[in-house]
Amino acid sequence: MKKVHIFNAGPCILPEQAIENAIEALKDFKGTGMSVIEISHRTKEWESVMDECRSLWKELLNIPDTHEVIFFGGGASTGFLYVPYNLLEKKAAYLETGVWAKKAAKEAKGLGATFGAEVVTVASSADTTYNYIPKNYEIPADADYFHITTNNTIYGTEIKEDIDCPVPLVADMSSDIMSRPVDVSKYAVIYGGAQKNVGPAGVTFAIIRKDILGKVSHYIPTMLSYQTHIDGASMFNTPPVFPILVMNETLKWLKGIGGVEAMNKINVEKAELLYNEIERNSLFVGTAAKEDRSIMNVCFVMAPGKEDLQDEFLAFAKSKKMAGLKGHRSVGGFRASIYNACPIESVKALVEAMQEFEQLHK
Ligand SMILES: *Cc1c(COP(=O)(O)O)cnc(C)c1O
Repeated sequence: MKKVHIFNAGPCILPEQAIENAIEALKDFKGTGMSVIEISHRTKEWESVMDECRSLWKELLNIPDTHEVIFFGGGASTGFLYVPYNLLEKKAAYLETGVWAKKAAKEAKGLGATFGAEVVTVASSADTTYNYIPKNYEIPADADYFHITTNNTIYGTEIKEDIDCPVPLVADMSSDIMSRPVDVSKYAVIYGGAQKNVGPAGVTFAIIRKDILGKVSHYIPTMLSYQTHIDGASMFNTPPVFPILVMNETLKWLKGIGGVEAMNKINVEKAELLYNEIERNSLFVGTAAKEDRSIMNVCFVMAPGKEDLQDEFLAFAKSKKMAGLKGHRSVGGFRASIYNACPIESVKALVEAMQEFEQLHK
């Protein structure tokens, strides 16, 4: 067990086994006598890590042959730009479920404006600080793609099913990738930063349906072209070797516990434990609409009339060796991020702390 219960939203907790193995590779990579950060990425030792990592992605998410998975630098925020560069010709549609979704749309609007493409927001939940997922919106049939953010890290809402979409579906899955089984065949692109659930910051992943590419008439900068990274097997230029190595170790751990389906069962159990306590406890209330609640980021606030206890609870949790429970600065309150590597023991410890805190304030 770690010395601290880590509820950080990102970068976040990673499996101890992944960190231990990464330390080993930093010291002596596969018996080469060199560190993984001292060795060329054009060596068979490195290529075997890259191949293993790619295979694990394919295996764990059941990625069909129609799709390819690539890794590059830049974070999900650069991923926002890849989407319109590679897919936008005349029109794109976005679902605004939070600031990340809004930022993704901004990049499409900015690029689209340079050649007269239109970017529409089909629905937004900004009216209630994004505490629900809009329903009953209409996706324009002539859109080149429809963009969603499956897990809204800041607000604790999640689109937990693979939606039916009449146009190519693009999803930012930064904060729920590998937390549940996904029908990859339903998506044209799935992308995200690794640092919420599959590794450290520094590597971005994208799963791309290959036949979606090559359809835009504008120039795509080489490094922003998915095709470049597909053709180069994610080694067109020097890849972020260390983050990829840690990601590989994280996926090996995930496979070891039984893969994404087994992980999902544990994640649902963790989330239910915590949501049940929030509902039961007279001091706290959840902020996300029940049907849209995330199994990754659990957001809650002090109950009405108890607001002045907020800082005290944060200090109390800190005294119990819990880190990262403060809500995002834009929403306040609390957020417990309970990603894959967060053990159920940490969730139980948090539930106990909430119960103890309630007793203290009877
Ligand atoms: C954290 C996050 C991002 C931004 O990721 P970076 O890698 O820091 O650019 C984008 N989308 C979602 C859903 C996120 O949680």
